[in-house]
Amino acid sequence: MKYDVIIIGAGYAGLTAARNLKRAGKNILLLEARDRVGGRIYTKWLDDTTYVDLGGQWIGPTQDKMYALCKEYQTATFSTYDKGKSSLYFLNQLKRYRGLIPPLPLFALLNLNKGIQRITKLSKQIILQQPWLSPDAQLWDKMSANEWMLKTFKNDKARSLFQVAFEAIFATHPANISMLHTLFYIKSGKDFDNLMNIKKGAQQDRIMGGAQSICNKMAVELQDVLQLDKAVISISQNAGGVEVSGAGFLYHAKKIIIAVPPAVAGKIHYEPALPENRMQLMQQQFMGNVVKCYAIYKKPFWREKNLNGLCAMPDELVSVTFDNSPKDGSKGIIMGFALAEKAKQLMQFDEAKRKELVTACFSKFLGKEALYCETYIDHYFTSEAWSLGCYAGMMPLNAITICGKALREQCGHIHWAGTETSDVWNGYMEGAIRSGERASNELMQL
Ligand SMILES: Cc1cc2nc3c(=O)[nH]c(=O)nc-3n(C[C@H](O)[C@H](O)[C@H](O)COP(=O)(O)OP(=O)(O)OC[C@H]3O[C@@H](n4cnc5c(N)ncnc54)[C@H](O)[C@@H]3O)c2cc1C
Repeated sequence: MKYDVIIIGAGYAGLTAARNLKRAGKNILLLEARDRVGGRIYTKWLDDTTYVDLGGQWIGPTQDKMYALCKEYQTATFSTYDKGKSSLYFLNQLKRYRGLIPPLPLFALLNLNKGIQRITKLSKQIILQQPWLSPDAQLWDKMSANEWMLKTFKNDKARSLFQVAFEAIFATHPANISMLHTLFYIKSGKDFDNLMNIKKGAQQDRIMGGAQSICNKMAVELQDVLQLDKAVISISQNAGGVEVSGAGFLYHAKKIIIAVPPAVAGKIHYEPALPENRMQLMQQQFMGNVVKCYAIYKKPFWREKNLNGLCAMPDELVSVTFDNSPKDGSKGIIMGFALAEKAKQLMQFDEAKRKELVTACFSKFLGKEALYCETYIDHYFTSEAWSLGCYAGMMPLNAITICGKALREQCGHIHWAGTETSDVWNGYMEGAIRSGERASNELMQL
């Protein structure tokens, strides 16, 4: 039998594409390597009432597709907890503050604000659909974000704090990615403030039951076309169509959609070889590094001290923390990000040591109580073959201008989806859904 379309990957992108094509009456098959759907979205239930999102979790304003899905599946959202004072633990000093402006010396603060305004202004010039055609694209693509930072932030404190925010957004050291990709990514999510903020920003809301609950609901509609534990190893195509194979299976289709990150798609064998810019893209785009670290306590004890659980710690292994407790506060959950090089450092240790190191970071701003959690859990997507890292694929120097165009360009019968192919909310769940819609629309005429 020959399918109209085979979709590879059941993350938000693949699930969306499959759902649209199935609803349009196409004969489809959805193949997923893991034993679950969701991909970089992974909600782990610790008991009947407590769960943690080990992958993506937040949604915010302008992520209209995500809010629409929540509505369609009657899944509630709730606000990220942000009542009370934030903390800054920096240069061995603990400071508390209200609002968005961190307690820095005046010159550092002015430098920080000016830098953020500057990067937001620069990002406005980017042509989202074709960033390689943006003004000064060649120049920005030759420069790393780190070079720009060193020029812009003359004040060390301002630079350190900007780097924490940068790594919290990109999950990689600023030396690794081009300024063109940086500007593209910022505009793709509206602006730098939007990417950083809780209220009116990308971290505004959480999904009741976890972000994977919606993927599971989408999968119910697809259960007759979805096959789990089916890792695609090889794809060959000729004028008549495509052959998709893996351990113990071989399927035929007129067209396929590959809805996995380019770095992961690069592990598949293609016959004949794909165009050189596509091959190069899959070798060049790399995944970020982040460990999401959770400590679960009997109750959110910091709230009694009027703390919101938000802390920036530029010098520690965990750089940023959030209150990730359930909506009803029935448990206290602090989530911390070990980012970029610090993620790699943390993962050198076994779980018991990681728990000790992470809770020690939490105790710097929450006090000794933070050392004694009921449960510790962390997760590292870098060591998973079907993700290779997170949050998303990042472009190194000179990659967008040379091979960025190959991100969405069809290769014979192969169409591409996945958040990395989205021009809006690239890197986020919203971008994944948009990419699945675009790729499925490309095939509606079949
Ligand atoms: C720790 C972390 C925190 C994040 N935080 C947020 C957040 O708060 N908000 C937000 O919006 N986004 C967040 N993200 C990003 C978000 O998770 C992703 O943008 C989104 O889930 C990507 O969806 P996708 O469908 O494009 O790709 P994926 O979710 O990666 O889906 C690809 C699927 O393809 C499968 N696959 C791979 N190779 C093969 C193969 N050869 N054969 C068959 N199947 C294959 C994979 O198993 C996977 O299921 C976060 C990500 C991580 C990891």
